Amino acid sequence: TRELTAKREALLGASYRLFYRNPVHVVRGQGAYLWDASGRKYLDVYNNVPSVGHAHPAVVAAVSAQMATLNTHTRYLHGSVLAYAEDLLSTLPGELDQIMFMCTGSEANDLAIRVARAYTGGTGIILTSEAYHGNTELTSAHSPALGSSQPLDPAARLVSPPDGYRADWAADGSVGQWFAARVQEQIDAMREQGVPFAGLLIDSVFSSDGVFTGEPGMLAPAFDVVHRNGGVVIADEVQPGFARTGDAFWGFGRHGVVPDIVTMGKPMGAGMPISGMAAKREVLEAFSLKVPYFNTFGGNPVSIAAAQAVLDTIRGEALQERARTVGAELRASLTALADRFDVIGDVRGAGQFTGLELVTSRSTKQPATALALDVIEGMRERGVLTSVAGPSGNILKLRPTLAFQSGDIDWLMESLTDALVQALETRP
Ligand code: PMP
Repeated sequence: TRELTAKREALLGASYRLFYRNPVHVVRGQGAYLWDASGRKYLDVYNNVPSVGHAHPAVVAAVSAQMATLNTHTRYLHGSVLAYAEDLLSTLPGELDQIMFMCTGSEANDLAIRVARAYTGGTGIILTSEAYHGNTELTSAHSPALGSSQPLDPAARLVSPPDGYRADWAADGSVGQWFAARVQEQIDAMREQGVPFAGLLIDSVFSSDGVFTGEPGMLAPAFDVVHRNGGVVIADEVQPGFARTGDAFWGFGRHGVVPDIVTMGKPMGAGMPISGMAAKREVLEAFSLKVPYFNTFGGNPVSIAAAQAVLDTIRGEALQERARTVGAELRASLTALADRFDVIGDVRGAGQFTGLELVTSRSTKQPATALALDVIEGMRERGVLTSVAGPSGNILKLRPTLAFQSGDIDWLMESLTDALVQALETRP
């Protein structure tokens, strides 16, 4: 492991970051589990890319068969991309009736920002304060999570996420109203500064901000504010999409809202690089009737075969329903554990997307950053892989593959409990 780590740094440069003080060298995956080079088994509680489970046989078979038949760039006619487009659009609100394909979430958001600007004639995009939306020049400039060395787009403005645990929302009536008021403030500020408003770009579960799934309907007031002010809402579904939140196929679906543009990626092809940007026809046409778009690999037959197999598997194995029930079971266990540990400040989530916020004490709510790091290292030592989110890195992000079942909860809970006990002993 030490040799590979050194070689990686020497060959790939300093920008890449590995997880863990002692990085995991994985060589094989199956369902909810991973194995390292020494044959040790791990429970994967973080990986949303192999969405339907590692090495799912339906995805493996579809990709292998298509690779053995044809793979090509995307400027020939091919039926499968159209069949998939129809199938996928049927999971979205009817107003979103066109979709374009690319390879990464970054490309999807990059295009979405261009489309939003073309449709509205504006430039200003509102983002949440720890959001990550991609690695291109445009999306990096709309990703405050990258820190102060990455300059933000001059027209971008930040709002705090709808943090029901910390935000002082009581005077606004609900955290959703509170969030909408913050969005309105930034629209007003843009107007005063002569920046024409284009829209709001949000991850509908606020993954990097710290996992704020909120009550169903929470996002409706903010969507209303954006639309009343002539902007568009881009829902970045790269993390919440594809059945993860349990109640709905898309993260925004829990809130009864219709975005103007929806971007998606990570879980879409269970590891094959495929992403998409769906939009309302009139929104997309403001861009597409003027600007040609070509993406060599975006929506190629092999990636589409993987994506179709993912969609079929989510339905065939009722994975949305499993995400809903198993996720609720997990949060019930975590909530029960909070009776034992005052450092568990909050347990929140929807479906298989859970945030566990660690604090130095429940009364002060001070983020327990070092403790959270010790806990994820301790869980790794016990074979359970996860990570942290939020501006202080004190929120455990539990986001397993959808192959994670009730029977996996015990291992997760045992490792978490033991890691907490050990971390609190060494760091009282
Ligand atoms: N949006 C969100 C919410 C993400 O989490 C990510 C990746 N972490 C991206 C966009 C970018 O996706 P990709 O890495 O596939 O370009």
